[in-house]
Amino acid sequence: MTRREAPLAMQQGTAPPDALGRTLADLRISVIDRCNFRCPYCMPEEAYPADHAFLRARERLEFDEIERIARVFVSLGVRKLRLTGGEPLLRRGLPDLVARLAVIEGLEDFALTTNGALLPRLAQPLRDAGLQRVTISMDSADAEIFRRMSGGRGELAGVEAAIAAAERAGFAPLKINCVVMRGVNDGGVPELVERFRGTGHILRFIEYMDVGTVNGWRNDRVVPGAELVRRIDARWPLEPLPRNPASTARRWRFRDGGGAIGFINSVTEPFCGGCTRARLSADGKLYTCLFAHAGHDLRALLRAGESDAALRASIAGIWSHRGDRYSERRAELRAAGVLEHVEMYRIGG
Ligand code: SAM
Ligand code: SF4
Ligand code: SF4
Repeated sequence: MTRREAPLAMQQGTAPPDALGRTLADLRISVIDRCNFRCPYCMPEEAYPADHAFLRARERLEFDEIERIARVFVSLGVRKLRLTGGEPLLRRGLPDLVARLAVIEGLEDFALTTNGALLPRLAQPLRDAGLQRVTISMDSADAEIFRRMSGGRGELAGVEAAIAAAERAGFAPLKINCVVMRGVNDGGVPELVERFRGTGHILRFIEYMDVGTVNGWRNDRVVPGAELVRRIDARWPLEPLPRNPASTARRWRFRDGGGAIGFINSVTEPFCGGCTRARLSADGKLYTCLFAHAGHDLRALLRAGESDAALRASIAGIWSHRGDRYSERRAELRAAGVLEHVEMYRIGG
């Protein structure tokens, strides 16, 4: 696309809306594909043994490259940035990257998702570097189930230490993510609710999704968010909060003033119509959907010496052709055998 042919919106700064009219507003950057956990719904141990071929350091985007891409995305309208992985805290020197990204003009929200294992050491340096918010994954308040949900690698005491460190560093209120699998950790939902009620932190239950190709997803393992709302409401009465159009979570409030709680019902109540999110893998591929089977190679463009303007035009072009709405078409696509999705640990959810 030549500069003259670029759509008006792009010439003025933002990317044109995609084929379904959705704007580009947020970017998730996976900084590493490795992880110190083996959660069964994401990187089951049997599929990722110790000798698994993860990206080598030179295949990953360098901090300069990540910063350049992030700046281009912000120039195209992105206002929210989230660092993820694999486990982002495994990326050496992460606070340096955070410091570079935190000062990008136009960025309004800058967050990170982590399993927390390394947070006690890194919470303060990340805060000092300009990170605004932290989401910590915690699938159970029971030590044994927690261990099982981390593939035998994580300890409940570790995530509790992470939460305490994040609070001390000034990240409260936190978001706490819990993926619910029927028959595995759903029995522990009340315990988890009890742990966070009254703390100010927002616990969010996420429906188990059919991401990737190896997590053995089955529809009967999904616990619909509506079912959880009914169960929680029976013990601690809830009332709905108005929907925030920028959020994927449906929010409810405890009637007794115990705070708020969220449900990300991506399977039973898909939200593709409002999906404004792009995802960048650690090796520089741009994915326009969590369930895409292939990404667009931005690293190749960077390493070929393309200018920022050329990068902008490519990203805007990719976005303008985007028609993804996998979750709305899940049943139909699965029935048709469309099962090749990028693995979650590559693009970080
Ligand atoms: N390692 C970090 C963590 O676990 O917080 C960041 C990356 S992880 C892929 C990001 C989020 O995706 C986590 O909250 C995790 O629970 C969620 N996730 C992973 N696999 C999932 C699945 N199959 N269904 C729903 N959520 C999933
Ligand atoms: Fe690792 Fe996060 Fe995936 Fe668990 S969900 S295996 S912590 S990347
Ligand atoms: Fe967005 Fe794809 Fe998820 Fe739909 S399925 S909400 S398009 S990432």
